[in-house]
Amino acid sequence: MATEAAKTFYLVIKTPEKNFCSEPAEEIILETPSGQIGILPGHEPMVSAVAIGPIRIKKEGEWEEAVLSEGFLEVNQDMVVILVDTAEWPDEIDENRARRAEERAQERLQGKLSRIEYAESRAALQRAISRLKVSSHSHKI
Ligand code: ATP
Repeated sequence: MATEAAKTFYLVIKTPEKNFCSEPAEEIILETPSGQIGILPGHEPMVSAVAIGPIRIKKEGEWEEAVLSEGFLEVNQDMVVILVDTAEWPDEIDENRARRAEERAQERLQGKLSRIEYAESRAALQRAISRLKVSSHSHKI
């Protein structure tokens, strides 16, 4: 008898501060340095860097959104583990703080910066912009 294909995989998202998410998911869509990827149950094993941006998570037929910063992911059998510097749900995002971070990063980018300072300021800007985008959505999309 053929075994039925799994409809979910187990999704774990961790940051150094917290276990952000640990639950079954039907699909995820997130950003990597080489573009957006989608992961469904039965995905072949892989590792990838994770880029700053939104992650969409399908659970029990409903999509939820969160925002991740940089890290790594591993897909292995029926498990996806994502380790990132930071992760927030929309209702955890302080929009004013993100706006201030965006302004600071924009100001820094106007000045003369070393290559490292430039990369850090670009990343800070991207984190702020991503937080603002995700916070303005409702939890369910
Ligand atoms: P800031 O300059 O405002 O600290 P940042 O992008 O440098 O922004 P991070 O280093 O990415 O901040 O995050 C540090 C901690 O603060 C993490 O726990 C992250 O989840 C949280 N955090 C950062 N910005 C926000 C925000 N706008 N709303 C809620 N939590 C935030």
